[in-house]
Formats: sequence, structure tokens, C-alpha cells
Amino acid sequence: MSRRQVAQVPGVAVVGLGGTIAMAQAGNGGVIPSLSAEDLVAAVPGLAGLGVDLAVSSFRSQPGTSLTVEDIIELADVLHQQFTDGAVGAVITQGTDTIEETAYLLDLLNATEAPIVVTGAMRNPTLAGADGPANLLAAVTVAASPHARGLGCLVVLADEIHAAARVRKSHTMSPSTFISPNGGPLGYVVEGYVRLVNRPAHRYRPPAPNRDQPVPRVGLYTATLGDDGGLLPALASHLDGLVIAAFGAGHVPQQWVANIEEIAGRIPVVFASRTGSGFTATDTYGFPGSESDLIARGLIPAGILDPYKARLLLQILLTTTDSRESLRTALAAATDDLGTKTR
Ligand code: ASP
Repeated sequence: MSRRQVAQVPGVAVVGLGGTIAMAQAGNGGVIPSLSAEDLVAAVPGLAGLGVDLAVSSFRSQPGTSLTVEDIIELADVLHQQFTDGAVGAVITQGTDTIEETAYLLDLLNATEAPIVVTGAMRNPTLAGADGPANLLAAVTVAASPHARGLGCLVVLADEIHAAARVRKSHTMSPSTFISPNGGPLGYVVEGYVRLVNRPAHRYRPPAPNRDQPVPRVGLYTATLGDDGGLLPALASHLDGLVIAAFGAGHVPQQWVANIEEIAGRIPVVFASRTGSGFTATDTYGFPGSESDLIARGLIPAGILDPYKARLLLQILLTTTDSRESLRTALAAATDDLGTKTR
């Protein structure tokens, strides 16, 4: 596996968006984003020793919760320009609350072989054991590594390297909050070396989004015990697409089926599992509201994508097509990326 870079490596772009990693005390209240990307880089012991040229800039200064899809599309364009200008990789520092979503969007939007590595911190810089500096050091190590090329977007925290398509935030406060329930991390940073133990079979890249089109409004609705689905038509009337976080392998209450079929005739409806890992089924159960019933009624299974990632993929795809067949093919291809269906 790759040894830590000691010779000078051409540029890695470090782009700050805010988040806990960049927070400082504001008066008597809590911490808020205030530090620039330059401040973050200056606070990392050992960064200069990597021998990596850094091009540092601040793009936003927001909590992760206030970033938008439009922000990330704009960021992807900025990074694309930096790669065209010779950067070998990029590191994004941002709030961890939305990393599992922004990283997947960047993965979908990264049309190059240069890796984009997203990192952040769970303990802000005013706390003992602040994890931001170690995470930033590990993220730059990965972004500069030739072994990360072609892997799209990666999330690096707590010395673990996660694929954007798999990563989940699993804990409110723990520095080890990021996990990859489907397949585990791709690797680790160990003693400054990138150690990959896993590689996705291939990468799914959707058609480039149509930037002349406003980002479609795609809602996410979770199936819960005893919900009769009566609110769904009103919700759907405001949407361009809908994702259902369904029970188990892709199931909803039978009381939903008439409404959901009618909605799926008007806008694309994708169902993912709310369980947190595993594939949606396609032909195991046959009761009303089961996965096979939903597919027969025109809904599209999200496969292994969790509801949050399925929603982002649907938003990007809907800027270029609302053909159910194209969407079904794209969702299947995005899932194949994480485990091809063979017998
Ligand atoms: N808790 C978050 C973080 O880790 C806050 C945010 O997403 O900005 O950065």
C-alpha cells in the first residue's frame, strides 16, 4: 500500500465550508462557524511534513445543516476547475451533520479521477481532544495518495476511509460516528500510510446535471407504524419526486397502496429501506404494500442506497429526465456499484 508522500506532491485543494471543525465560542452562547480554512490548516501539526502543496480557500462558513444542494453543485464546479488546473485531489472541511449527503452528491458530480475527501470534526477546537487537526491531516494524506485516484468521493474521519456511497453518521457525539454498514470502510490511515482493504467494484456516474434547471424538489417520507398514508397526496402535490423510507426490505402499510400508486403515476416514487443497511428486495414478498407490489404499482426500488442518498440521486437525475425507465435503470446501476446481482 502507499507510503506517506515525502517528495513534494502537486497541489491538493483544501476548501472550507464551516462546521464544528471551524467553530469558536461566540460570546456566552455556544460555538459557531468562524475559523477560515487557512486557520484550520495552520493548526495541524505535521501537515507541512507531508510535502503536499496546499491551495487553501474558504467557500462557505455554515453549519453543515444549512448547506444546500445548490452549494454543493457550485462547489463541484469549483473543484473541477482546480483539478483541470492541476490539483491531484481535494479536501473539503465541513459540518458532520450532512457529510453523508454532501459526500454522496460530490461523488455523483465528480467527473474526474481526482479524489475528493470530505472531513470534519465531532469535538470543536475549544474542547480537550479536538479531532479536527488529526482528521484534516488524514484527509490530506488520502487526497494526495495515488491509491485514492478513481475512488470518487471519500469520507475520512477517525483515520477511517469510507466510500461516500456507503457512509452513514451513526452517533450524535462520538468521534467514531462514521460507519459503512454495507461492506465496511474502504481502508484506514495507519502511521501516516493509506491502507486500503476494500475497493468498490466500479463507480456509478450519472449524466451531468442540467444546471439550467432548478434543483427538483424531492421529498422524503418515512413509513411508520399505523400511518394510513392520508397525508401523502397533499405532500406529493408539492413535489417533483418522492422517496419513501420504507419498512424492512421495502414495505409500506396496505392502507397506502391506492394513494401511492396514484402518486407514482404522476411523479417518480422511489422506495428505500429505513433499516440502515441491506438491499431492498424485489420479488420475495407478495402482500399489498410489499416490495413486489410497490414495483408492480410503478415505484422504483433504491437497492442498497439509503433514503437520503436515494433522494439526492433522484434530484440529480430529474434535472435531465423523468422517464421511469431511465430512472429505474439509473437506480439499478447506482446499486450495482455496491454489489452486482449475479446467480
Ligand atoms: N455537529 C455538526 C458538526 O459536526 C454541526 C454541523 O454539521 O455543522 O460539524
